[in-house]
Amino acid sequence: MIVYHIVLRTKDPQGDGGGILIGFVVVAVLFLIVLVVIAGKALSYHRDAFVREHSQMLRDVDCLNQSFRFDDIGEQVLTRVLESKAQFDRFDPDLFVSEHISGDMGSYLDLLDSADGNRALYEEYSEIYDRITSGVGYDYIGIVSQGRMIDTDLFRRLEGEMVREMKLNPVTSLSVTVDWSYTSPAGRNRYRDSRMYSQDDIIGFIEEGRRREQYRNSVQYERSVAAGLRYDVLKRDGFRCVLCGASRADGIKLHVDHVIPVSKGGRSTMDNLRTLCEECNLGKGDKYDPSGENRLGCGHHSIPCGR
Ligand SMILES: [Zn+2]
Repeated sequence: MIVYHIVLRTKDPQGDGGGILIGFVVVAVLFLIVLVVIAGKALSYHRDAFVREHSQMLRDVDCLNQSFRFDDIGEQVLTRVLESKAQFDRFDPDLFVSEHISGDMGSYLDLLDSADGNRALYEEYSEIYDRITSGVGYDYIGIVSQGRMIDTDLFRRLEGEMVREMKLNPVTSLSVTVDWSYTSPAGRNRYRDSRMYSQDDIIGFIEEGRRREQYRNSVQYERSVAAGLRYDVLKRDGFRCVLCGASRADGIKLHVDHVIPVSKGGRSTMDNLRTLCEECNLGKGDKYDPSGENRLGCGHHSIPCGR
């Protein structure tokens, strides 16, 4: 316990002692306040201890808490420290969280399972908790008659506060917070922002990731040759059809073609790609010529058609 002594230095040119009197009164009032606070604390400590000792409801809630085991789902916080103000301004938390979730899909599916499990269990828990804390079936008159300084209403009020504090609060819905920041070199300016994503957002990102995964393994993806690779193929082939030699200067469109068609397991790799003019390409369809030369219908040049 700390008692504060207040020394008042009064400037009292008349020397009438009024300042000293005021000082005494202030000290006395403060002392009384401290006493009242201490007495109040002691009384409330005594009451809480009495309730703790005699409340069957508290014991029942404690027993309930022991019998339910919820999965521990920690707080999901993704932090990103940016290296420049421009990066900070450009930072896209949606993209960041979506890539993170796609890259760790298994963990997020486990977390979602845990959250769903917790939610189902928590409904059951809450039902029993509500039944216990309704107070039906407890003998308050019998308990309170043993206690001094406490009546039934006060006992129930204190007991109610204590059981509310005891109620378990498991995570029943997953959320992810993205926290991004940038600090200028001298540490003078600090920028920080964050965004929280709900369970529905997370499920959305997982589904999006799955769709992307399926797309990646699909024929459609193999057909859509990446822009960079497409240019490399055209460049390697001198921007000419490898079959008829036509170029854009001849007024034709150049296609990048799969030698082994995607439908037959061909991949979008340099060695399976070649430059064809539109006519050579359309004439070919899905027919696979292992020689790498396609001698089907080329209307405007001399290579013989296979038909
Ligand atoms: Zn051609």
